[in-house]
Amino acid sequence: MTNLDTAPSEQVCPAAPEGQGPCVQLWPEREVPLGGVRAMNVYRTLPQRGLPTVGAWCFLDSFGPDRVAMSVLPHPHCGLQTVTWPLEGAVRHRDSVGSDVVVRPGELNIMTAGHGISHSEFSVLPSAEVAPEDVPVSRGLQLWVALPDEHRHREPSFEQHRELPVASGDGYTATVMVGEFAGKLSPATMFSPIVGADITGSGTLDLPLRPDFEHAVLVLDGQVAIDGEDIGPGPLAYLGAGRESLTVEAAPETRIMLLGGEPFGEDLLMWWNFVGRTHEEVEKAREEWEAEGLLDDAAAATSRFGFVHGHGPDAGAEAGRIPAPPLPGVKLRPRTRG
Ligand code: MN
Repeated sequence: MTNLDTAPSEQVCPAAPEGQGPCVQLWPEREVPLGGVRAMNVYRTLPQRGLPTVGAWCFLDSFGPDRVAMSVLPHPHCGLQTVTWPLEGAVRHRDSVGSDVVVRPGELNIMTAGHGISHSEFSVLPSAEVAPEDVPVSRGLQLWVALPDEHRHREPSFEQHRELPVASGDGYTATVMVGEFAGKLSPATMFSPIVGADITGSGTLDLPLRPDFEHAVLVLDGQVAIDGEDIGPGPLAYLGAGRESLTVEAAPETRIMLLGGEPFGEDLLMWWNFVGRTHEEVEKAREEWEAEGLLDDAAAATSRFGFVHGHGPDAGAEAGRIPAPPLPGVKLRPRTRG
């Protein structure tokens, strides 16, 4: 989905420091200011000023549960992978590399933007004219993974995985979204050492971790205690690196998203839907998206962000594209992490 923030600021994301040992830090979620009246509730836990990344994970929005149809017109991305993880509701994804798929809970969409891609996302509705009370509930996570420098200019691509490996241990089952967890490897193509696992369990969970990874946990349902710290839905719990395992005391029917990865060693500059390295790069991406407008097929074939079929002038309510917001006039100064 697009970054729905109506006035996004540049986010300077310094490279992760080495040697952050085990800890429990709660980073509060913040409500994303949205345009429009009947908008979905969106809460952002990454990036944070003091915690821009966890591994290569650089963006985490939780949306819903709401009876609001998602209708996100074509918009661009570069320098990142989007990871779409629906918890409730089905979403139709179309993109400029020709994909047209529906993603449902338990299924994974991975879109590698590389140097440039555009896509749209619409809730799958039971019929064209749906009463508000009959709109299906939407709930999910939208994550981004920063592409390391050697991969960020690659050709865009898209993959969907409808079956993911499930690992289990004492008291838990884990759907391995990306990377490897408890001996099970996700088929998703990733470009840095990373993990994402959707874990359901109750009681004492003993989760195997890689000590060279830093980790964080987002509670989706229920409640956990980690190192004596009570954590419920809302904030992102940053756990540091250096853990061989993680003991989680989980209330009945608890569900958590475990994220982790090798600390990301590159400075990032994030703005709107772009991940780059400099203000000038982001400015150029914005200018190119704005200049491309609605393209015919021939022009789209050679453009940076391409054309998403199904949103042309004859597409009715689905005609159009999302213009880039204005760039903030003031460049933010780099910040240090921590
Ligand atoms: Mn998007």
